Amino acid sequence: MTTTLPPRDPDSRVAQHSQPGEHMTPDEFQRYGHLLVDWIADYYRNVEQYPVLSQVQPGEIRAQLPPDPPQTGEPFEAMLADVERVILPGITHWQSPNFFAFFPANTSGPSILGELLSAGLGVQGMLWATSPACTELETHVLDWVAQMLELPGHFLSTSTGGGVIQESASSAALCAVLAARERATGFASNEVGCDGTLTAYISTQAHSSIEKAVKIAGLGRERLRLVEVDEQYAMRPGALAARIAADRAAGLTPCFVAATIGTTSSTAMDPLPEIGAICREQGLWLHVDGAMAGTAALCPEFRWMQRGLELADSYCFNPHKWMFTNFDCDCFFVADRAALIQTLSILPEYLRNQATESGAVIDYRDWQVSLGRRFRALKLWFVIRHYGVEGLQMQIRRHVALAQTFAGWVEADPDFELAAPAPLSLVCFRHKGGDAVNQRIVEQLNRSGALYLTHTKLDGQYTLRMSIGQTHTEQRHVAQAWALIRAASRG
Ligand code: PLP
Repeated sequence: MTTTLPPRDPDSRVAQHSQPGEHMTPDEFQRYGHLLVDWIADYYRNVEQYPVLSQVQPGEIRAQLPPDPPQTGEPFEAMLADVERVILPGITHWQSPNFFAFFPANTSGPSILGELLSAGLGVQGMLWATSPACTELETHVLDWVAQMLELPGHFLSTSTGGGVIQESASSAALCAVLAARERATGFASNEVGCDGTLTAYISTQAHSSIEKAVKIAGLGRERLRLVEVDEQYAMRPGALAARIAADRAAGLTPCFVAATIGTTSSTAMDPLPEIGAICREQGLWLHVDGAMAGTAALCPEFRWMQRGLELADSYCFNPHKWMFTNFDCDCFFVADRAALIQTLSILPEYLRNQATESGAVIDYRDWQVSLGRRFRALKLWFVIRHYGVEGLQMQIRRHVALAQTFAGWVEADPDFELAAPAPLSLVCFRHKGGDAVNQRIVEQLNRSGALYLTHTKLDGQYTLRMSIGQTHTEQRHVAQAWALIRAASRG
């Protein structure tokens, strides 16, 4: 690790030095930029040395920060030194190959460089006109992604729909709920508000972000129905149909269903063909959340989970989870862009411009909640070009194979059991000794810093989640994790 910065080389190309309070000169930026990139490269070389879960106590980081901001500017060296001294101990190392918690938020060299370039260009891409390349690259790359995943044709920008990069699956869900609300009310609820009769449906296993979206969109938590799941934790289409019928009978207006392919707790797959048929018949907006599992569809052998997706009005997945693209990057596709744009469009005088008036361009500010937007397509473009489709497929297959190997070890051990099907890279399992043993395993291992593991509850039972998807995780890391889990189970 580059722990100290080399002294300034008097012969270096640093021709100009800024004085405190002045702007950093391009020469200084170059010097510090190189240092920082070196620092990040060293970080990746050494990331396994750090405790995966930060071991600091609440308040410990703040206590080391000066109470007041500096009155005069400080040298960059001082900031980088404080990153090592103060910040690093408070980092939970998501990029450690021993990170098996939640779902991954993996990244890669090309993604980090794309992010750096985006910051360097400093573009704010709210309108096509505010940087045509920002919009057109995004449209193009999302059409690439749709092709790479073999999504239904109407999600392409060349058809009735198109894709947009959102900050998160939560934002995508919010846009979907808003568009569903507007479509169900003939676009009147944007004008006069909701009348409290709209209802929405998710399974008991859906991500909390959908509930949040329903609350923000003004439908109200009480109008959200939690549909029962089967023994594999997938939504029961019959139960969905029954709840819709009951709401209609009560004079309510069902408008939105969110199905999940790859639930957070256990990667359960809601049956899209049956759910989609109900939504079509009833005229409900179907949003499909593939936040984590969606990336697997890069590989033809995992595309079975997308069967029925042609019946969806919108779909999202997160390259910032499993596709080596650092947070934030959610790909959100709609089948009918007109409904989304009519829902979110707003045009004050100060944003009027010729390109927009011509109708010949996309203005992505009409496809999201915020006005402003970053040039996020760059990092996704770099990732796709660096790995190529085949490279990405290889990496995904590698992660799935590691998870399947792990699942095999669990199954073969008389003290452990699988707690749910493991179709992709998440293995839900538990020690047969009960909740207290499983809880102790998680707490003990996380405290040790050797790995980071999280849990869920399935059928009320404490369940361990081994989530494999960090960029640099190899078989040796998974094998070590299994050895540690078994040792911890013995106390
Ligand atoms: N949907 C699913 C299935 C998830 O697993 C998650 C997060 O893990 C989300 C949505 C929320 O993702 P984001 O953080 O992008 O909003």
